[in-house]
Parts: sequence; structure tokens; C-alpha cells
Amino acid sequence: MASPVTPQFTAARRRLIEELRGKGISDLSVLRALDLTPRHQFVPSGVRHRAYEDTSLPIGNGQTISQPWVHAIYLQTLALKGDEKVLEIGTGSGYQTVLLAHLCRFVYSVERIRPLLETARDAMTACGVRNVSLLCGDGTRGWPENGPYDAILVSAGSPEVPQPLRDQLAEGGRLIVPVGGREDQRLLEITRQGDAFSQRELSAVRFVPLVGEHGWESA
Ligand code: SAH
Repeated sequence: MASPVTPQFTAARRRLIEELRGKGISDLSVLRALDLTPRHQFVPSGVRHRAYEDTSLPIGNGQTISQPWVHAIYLQTLALKGDEKVLEIGTGSGYQTVLLAHLCRFVYSVERIRPLLETARDAMTACGVRNVSLLCGDGTRGWPENGPYDAILVSAGSPEVPQPLRDQLAEGGRLIVPVGGREDQRLLEITRQGDAFSQRELSAVRFVPLVGEHGWESA
């Protein structure tokens, strides 16, 4: 899938990719997706000059685009083969949605703040991405109409694993979700085997709150 390439940012993007390699990101398909996706088109103009720093940045409405290393860890852990159906909770800027679109068959993505979703939609359209469907709503309920999913990624921190997301995993499907307090969470990978779920911890993380019926009550 082709993405528009802006020459002035190409060198900065390559430097970010080298930095991520140095931090343990070695999956070539993940590095290729990062190379194909113009992160500067997913951040507000006031922080565009920082788009290729390995840091989270404000995107408005009190929300942030995650640190590139965090996106890369999600994607490297999932090791997508290209034929998966994926659900993303917390579209935010839409940057991770496009990374996913390069790595799987189809992405369903849910965001609760409509202005963010509309900005993300425009940025995705500019990238020429077609294998994505967006919904404005409470992602703690998942998106049951299109499930089950081979992978579910949650991009906001939750006090517990939302049960509807476990329920919407396909056999062998994996859910990556930050779980813990409002400030600090543990990034968990949960795998479905029949009616059983195994769990492992990936790293310590800091995400904005997951707000909804099966998350936090308020932002
Ligand atoms: N991956 C995104 C992360 C954005 S921050 C990026 O890098 O741009 C997390 C996002 O989750 C915010 O946009 C927030 O509004 C959204 N969010 C929080 N609770 C949600 C919920 N219950 N359903 C859908 N989106 C939610």
C-alpha cells in the first residue's frame, strides 16, 4: 500500500527507525510499516517538528499519540502474518491504525471522542488506507458485530481487562491491554485457548485512561 512520502521528513523517519532497532525492535515487517507511515501527518502542526522523536505527543482533547516504541512493541508482540482481522480500541491520532492496516487484512477501530476520530479519518484517507472501518463509541464493549478478532489492541489504560474484549477474541486470538491504576499500568498479553485465557506481562507503561462501561467512569 503506497503512502505519500514527504522528503523533508524521510531522513528523520529513518533515524527514528534506527533508534527503535537499537531499542530491540527487529521485526522487519514492523520496521517496514513504520517506514511507510508518515507520523508527521498524525500530529497537530504545533508539534509536527517533533513527530519523529520517540515520545508521546499531545493530539488535543486531553489525549496523546503514543510513543513509537510502544506501538512497535504491540506490533512486534503480535507478529501479524497479514491475514488477520484486528480490533483497535482508542483510535486517537489514527497512526497505529495505519501501521496495523499495513500488517493485517482488516482493522476495525473504535474511538470515543468524535473530533479525534474525524481528524484521524482525514489523515488515514490522505495515506490512501482502505482496509479500515471506524466507529465512534465506547470501545470497552468491543465491536461485537464484526467479531471474533484474531487480535485486539487497547491503547488506553484500564482498571481491569474488559470482559467483552475477552469474549470477542477468536480461538488462539490475542489481546494486548494496559491494566492498572490511572497513572501506571502493566501491559498484558492475553491469549484465548477455548474458554481458557493465559496471560503474560510485557512491560510497565503509562497510558491515558480507558473511559467507558468496562473501564474508568470518567476521564
Ligand atoms: N493509538 C493512539 C492512542 C491514543 S490515546 C495513538 O497513538 O494515537 C488513547 C485513545 O483512547 C484516546 O483517543 C481516547 O479518547 C481513547 N479512548 C479512551 N477510552 C475509550 C473507549 N472506551 N473507547 C474508545 N476509545 C477510547
